[in-house]
Order: sequence, then C-alpha cells, then structure tokens
Amino acid sequence: MQAHPGPQVLPGDGLTGGEAAARLTRDGPNQLPAARRVPWWRRLVAQLTHFFALLLWFASALAFVAGMPELGIAVIVVIVVNGIFAFVQQERAEKAAERLGELLPTTIVVRRDGALRTVDARDLVVGDVVVLTGGDRVPADLTLVVAGRCTFDESTLTGESEPVLHEAGAVVFAGTFVAEGESEGVVTAMGAHTRLAGIAALTTSVRRPPGPLDLEIQRIVRTLAFGSVGVGTVFFAVSLLVGISWRDAFLFAVGITVALVPEGLLPTVTLSLAMGAQRMAKDNALVRNLEAVETLGATTFVCTDKTGTLTQNRMNVVEAWTPAGTVTVRGEGYAPTGEVTGPEPAVAAAATAGLAGAAASKGGITLDDEWRAVGDPMEAAIAAFAARLAGPDVQPGPVTRRFVFDPRRRRESVIVDGRLLLKGAPDAVLPRCAETGELIDRAEEALADMASRGLRVLAVARRTLTDPGAVTDPDLAERDLELLGLLGMEDPPRIAVPAALRAARGAGIKVAMLTGDHPETARAIAREIGLLGPEGKVVQGKDLPDDDQLLGALLDRDGVVISRVSPEQKLRVAKALQDRGHVVAMTGDGVNDGPALRQADIGVAMGESGTDVAREAADLVLLDDDFATILTAVEQGRATYANIRRFLSYHLTSNVAELTPFALWGLSGGQFPLALGVLQILCIDIGTDLLPALALGGEPPSRNTLKRPPERRHLVDRTLLVRVFGVLGPTEAIVEMSAFLVALLVAGWRPGGEFPTGTALLAASGAAFAAVVLGQVGTAFACRSATRPPWQLGWGSNRLLLWAVLVELVALVVFLGVVPVADVLGHAVPPLEALGVALLGIPAVLVADFVYKAVRGRR
Ligand code: ADP
Ligand code: MG
Repeated sequence: MQAHPGPQVLPGDGLTGGEAAARLTRDGPNQLPAARRVPWWRRLVAQLTHFFALLLWFASALAFVAGMPELGIAVIVVIVVNGIFAFVQQERAEKAAERLGELLPTTIVVRRDGALRTVDARDLVVGDVVVLTGGDRVPADLTLVVAGRCTFDESTLTGESEPVLHEAGAVVFAGTFVAEGESEGVVTAMGAHTRLAGIAALTTSVRRPPGPLDLEIQRIVRTLAFGSVGVGTVFFAVSLLVGISWRDAFLFAVGITVALVPEGLLPTVTLSLAMGAQRMAKDNALVRNLEAVETLGATTFVCTDKTGTLTQNRMNVVEAWTPAGTVTVRGEGYAPTGEVTGPEPAVAAAATAGLAGAAASKGGITLDDEWRAVGDPMEAAIAAFAARLAGPDVQPGPVTRRFVFDPRRRRESVIVDGRLLLKGAPDAVLPRCAETGELIDRAEEALADMASRGLRVLAVARRTLTDPGAVTDPDLAERDLELLGLLGMEDPPRIAVPAALRAARGAGIKVAMLTGDHPETARAIAREIGLLGPEGKVVQGKDLPDDDQLLGALLDRDGVVISRVSPEQKLRVAKALQDRGHVVAMTGDGVNDGPALRQADIGVAMGESGTDVAREAADLVLLDDDFATILTAVEQGRATYANIRRFLSYHLTSNVAELTPFALWGLSGGQFPLALGVLQILCIDIGTDLLPALALGGEPPSRNTLKRPPERRHLVDRTLLVRVFGVLGPTEAIVEMSAFLVALLVAGWRPGGEFPTGTALLAASGAAFAAVVLGQVGTAFACRSATRPPWQLGWGSNRLLLWAVLVELVALVVFLGVVPVADVLGHAVPPLEALGVALLGIPAVLVADFVYKAVRGRR
C-alpha cells in the first residue's frame, strides 16, 4: 500500500490493516440489525382481511345463512386461495426489493496503514479514522478529530433541517449527512450500538406515501369492486322482479360480484414491477422504489451531467500550459510515470503547477495491483501528473488549512508552508490573478484552444501569505494570485453513449447535458458523442432566462447543453420542463443536487462516483455510472408497463365472457338458462387464468419498445377498453354462447322450444366453460403484443406462457373429465360438436385480434 502524494492532515495513520481485520472478526460488520418485521402469519392474515376479502367473507356468510353451504364454502376457498396467492406474490416482490437494497454501494474513505483507503462501510471497525467530505453519509457514530468548517445535516435523526456546525471533539451520529466541508472522525460505535439503531428499533418501518401507480391501481381496483357490487345488486333486483326465489337471486348476485372482482390483480402488478426492477438491476440500473419502474417507462426528457456519466471519468492530464511554455504528457492510467515533452523551463514550471494542484487536492493515487484513483479521479489525474513531472517522492508539506471545493466557488485551496495553493475552474481563477494583460490573454488563448479539443481545463495558482494563521475567509485570501498554469485533462466518452443517444432519439426522448464544466469543453464533448444536434445549442447557466416559461421554451428541444450550471439552476430546469408536461429524469452526483433529484420525476444518482446524499435522494442509481444504462432502464420500464397492461387486458377479457351468461339470463327475464355458474367462474378466475396472467407479466421487452415515442397514459385507457370490451371479450362470449347453444341443439332443443334440464344442460354448460378457457388461450397469445399478431413474435419467445397454457389445458381436462370435480362445478363433458365449437375459441379470438390490430395499425 502506497499513497502519493496523499493529503497530509493530522490524525495519524489510522489502524493497521491487520488490526482492522481482527476487530472486524471480533465485532462483526457495521450493519443495522435487520428491522423487526411483521410476523409472516400477520401478513398472511392481512391478505385475508383486506377490503375485497371482507366483501367475500360477507357474501360467504350470507350464503350459509341462506342455506347454500356449497356456495359459502366455494367463496371461502376463493378467499383462501387468493390470500395465499397474494401473500406469495407479495413476499416475492419484497424479497426482490430487499435484494435490490443490498446492491446499493456504501463505500467510505478511511485511513489505514497511513494511507487513504476506500472500504465498504460495513467493514468499518471501532477506532477507524473515517475521512468525511460533503455529501457523505456518516457511516457510524464518530468523534470528530478534525473539523474545519464542517456542517452536518441531522434531519434524519432530529428532524432539524438546518445543517449543524460541529467542531473537533463533537460526536456525530450514523445516518446523518455531511452537508458541507470536510472532517475526520474516529469510530466510537457501530452497527447495532449506534444511536440510529436505537431509534430504528423504536420506530417500525416508515411508510412511503403511495405513488402515482399505486393510486392508479387502487383507483382501478376500487372502480371494478364498486362496479361489480353495483352490477350484482342490479341483478339481484332484476331476479326478484322476474319472480325468482330470493335465494337464487342472491346466488346470481354473488356470482356476478365474484366474477368481476379483480382478485389477483394487485399482487400481480406488484410482482410485475419487482420483476422489472430485478431485470433492471441486472443491467446495472438500481431502482430505489418499485414505482420508479413505471415512471422510467414514461420518461420524456433526460437531463444528464457530463463528467462520469457521458464520459468515463478516467482523467488524464495530457497537456499543461504555463507562463514558461507548454508541455505535453503521455502516461497510462494513474501511474506516476510517463513521457513528458516540452522545453526545460516549461517542464519545471508545469511540475510546480502539478505539485500545487496535487497539494490542493483531497484525492490522490494509490498502488494495489495497479495504480488507482482514491477519491476524485480528476485529483488523482493531477497527482499522477505531478509525479510524472516531479518524480514520485516529492511530497508537499503539511496542510494547515483547507478551503474545500464547492460548486459555487468552483475552486479549492489549501495553506501549506505559509502559502496558499489553489486549483479551480479557469474562469473562477484567472480573474483573481495579480497579473493582467498579456499573460492572462495568453492563458485565455491556451484555455480556448484546450477546451475546443474537449479537454477539461483546471487552473492552478498560488499566493504567499503574510499571516497564514489569520486567514479565515477563503474569498479574501484567494486573490492577487500568481498563475502557475493550466492543466488540460482528457476524459474520453463512454463507448456506449453515442448509440444510447441515438436510441433516446428514436424513443422520442429528449436529452440535455447539464454540466459544471467550461462551455467549450462541453460543446466539444457534446459534438463528439452526437448529443449536440442541429437544433441544439450551448447556453451558460448564468444566461438562462429568469422567467420559467421562457426557460421551458428554450430548453424543450433535443440536444441542449447548459454549461457552468449550478445546483439551483438544475432544480429550475427540472421544474420548467415538468411545467411543459415532461416526465423528467435528472442525474446528479453532488452534495447540493438533492433538491433537483427530488424535484425530477426520476432522480438519477451514481453508484461508483457521486455522493451518498445524491443516492439517498435518487429514485434510480446507475451502478456503472453510465448514461446508456438510463436508456436500458427506460426500456425495461416501458416493457413492465406494457406487461401490466397485457395481463389486465387478459383478465378483463374473461370477465366479459363470464358476465355474458348472467346478462342473457337477466335480459330474458330468467327464461334463457344460465350457461355458467358461480363455481365455474371462480374456477376460471383463480384457476385457469392465473398462470397465463403471470406469464404475460414476464413477457420480454418487444423489440419496438424503444422505437416508439413515450406514452403517458392510464393503465386502463380507451384503447384497452375498446380492445377488451369491443373485440376480445365479445368474440370470446360469442363462441361461448355458440358452444352452449350447439350443445343444447344436440340435446334436442329447438328455438322456441322448451330448454332441456338435467344432464343435457350440464353438458351444455361444460361446453360454455370449455369455450371460455380455450378463448382465454387465444387471448393470452393475442395479449402478448398490443400491435402485432402472435405469429410475428415467435411462439417460443415466452416459454413461461407455453407452460402456463399447457397447465391450463390439463386443468380444463381435469375440470371437465374428472366426474366428482365436474359434479361440484356443475357441468359435464360436452358433446363433440359443441367441443368443436369451443375449440374455435382459440382461432376466433386470434383472428378478431388480428383484424383489430390491422385496422388500428392502418390508422
Ligand atoms: P462537472 O462534473 O459537470 O464537470 P462540477 O460542478 O463537478 O461539474 O465542476 C465544475 C467545475 O469546477 C469543473 O469544470 C472544474 O473546473 C471545477 N472543479 C471541479 N472539481 C474541482 C475540485 N475538486 N477542485 C477544483 N476545481 C474543481
Ligand atoms: Mg462533477
């Protein structure tokens, strides 16, 4: 382990690696004890006692009272089967969410063996010296040993939103955040012994307010529930009117209600989202709440930063301008060796600039199997540059004062040996230099030249202080500077970015780059990756219009670049775009990006770089920091949403077929016999329909997912209603009733004549039942796509569905053919002719769906 030229702040070397490992084995990982969960049986009971279940319990009780124990028992079976199904789905969804949580990175910088090391926060031990910077989550209870001006956001513990200033000696608690400044602290308590753990034990899990999808689904479920109770009541009244015994009337009412209630809907939606989230996680996109899966699919505007997201964040200083001339450097990665070319005095001057820049850094480089960056890659690049020019062993003196980087000042300085050393964005440094005139002109020229080539440029300067101890205000000290040079850094674009930008365009998603960097650097990179389109433009943060409407109008186009943007401006941008109806995804990695991330519909934080604060505020964490991952996540989000619509369509279609017999019976005033009974309906709803619905929830993304513009629509909208209630449902119902009638005809019934009863009627009912189940087979395949017929999708591309259909067919045979089962359900094996008609259910639905899709496609 070797560090170079690592910051020199006071508190010793920290623990040795050996000691830390020993303590870790002794004390265990730094983890909160698993939250006490509601015991499983209470969660199961909850599934048996929610609103729907209570409705059904009530119906079942009435059935017993009315002397219909079979119906009463059947309804209880429905409640239990449903409850268990929902319970299992819920558990699976929760497990998935839990596993996602474990993927969230929790690294922290500590001092061990006298060097800075990045470790997993779970590997902290008591006595570790933790290095904190703005945006970090405090990983354990710490006693501060250094405190510059370091403030902490303790709102998670105290509810107090103003950051609190803490000096050395103070105790800060796990779960709070560093708001601003830098500090170091020694771990005093961790894991279960922290104050946070004490509080967490008191409060049971905090409930998130329901998101838009939750609300939408609750709305659908409630509508369907009240709708079904309403329809049931109407039928009850109608049956009494036509003079049926109130017992039978009640039977019909319950049947209809149960048929329409969307039993398995909620848990299937949740599971679908969880599966979507899991697929996203495999692609390095980690959602922090399941809702985000759906919102991602609706995204219409992505605001991305540049450094690290569009670029690799592997910096390399390739060129340095100094008053004495320019040098160029070639070197691999962060290794402290490289090839330097340039005139002798320029090399010496560049070395001085490099060392000053490295001294004014918190991050550096370290050697394990290869040379790596510790902390900010840009600072690591400066450290490597300094070592390449000045040799690996030159170390700056101890830092006595540090004025940390903040995105408003855009510079950072330290006091070493009575001198102020500073690095920062050139436009934040050059105006503060003592020199004016020709030298600054040359610097500006060099800056423009480097920026136009896409290099990230940093200025380095210094000043000798007369009374270094008296300096308190950085803005007063950072002036009359002596300009040491400009460092030009290469940060190559990520490989997948240009393709991802094209995909975004194809998907109707606009992309803007919001960066803190120089406008010319931003322009060069944006052009290189193909972001800056023909209608795009580069604006500076300070030139953005104050009027929100103007701002929205200015930005609402593809390929805008905003440079030198501040966190407040990002927040405004998100709001302005939302006001124009956009669903905005916004990336952010800084301490002050929290508000913008929360404002955006999808806040995106970085898993590798970026602050804990940003991750805490985000809905989506990119584990690989890559812009392209956002697009993958959008695709999965859209696919998941489509899947929910798929099984909704499927489920609602059978409702139409289930309701039709009751409607005919009611409309005929009880003359026309009932083709399906309550138990058969239940059998379809919670029997044969279940697996195909689940399989539709796992349909792979269609290859057109990203080739369409985003649609913000309700889960249940007109298109879906027309398709279900105008096309699929009626077709299935027509085949169902035809099969029923054919069976009656076979039994000798003629129009106008007396309807048969007994076995003939049972066989006809069996025909209707078979027709619905087979119709649902066709529907399952039809619902695989909203635009294309199933034969274009490849029959084998959803294996799960093939299995589900096979099970469905076997179940059909059992339900019809096993006599005791068939007796309970109230049907019998239909005559062959009727069975033939029932079989037509599959092609009939497929053909109707094909025609519908073709007509819609033409329009
Ligand atoms: P971005 O990451 O989008 O380029 P930042 O807000 O992180 O933007 O940085 C803005 C500018 O501030 C950078 O272009 C750079 O010039 C300067 N800068 C960034 N980090 C540091 C730092 N640690 N020390 C000094 N200057 C910095
Ligand atoms: Mg940055």
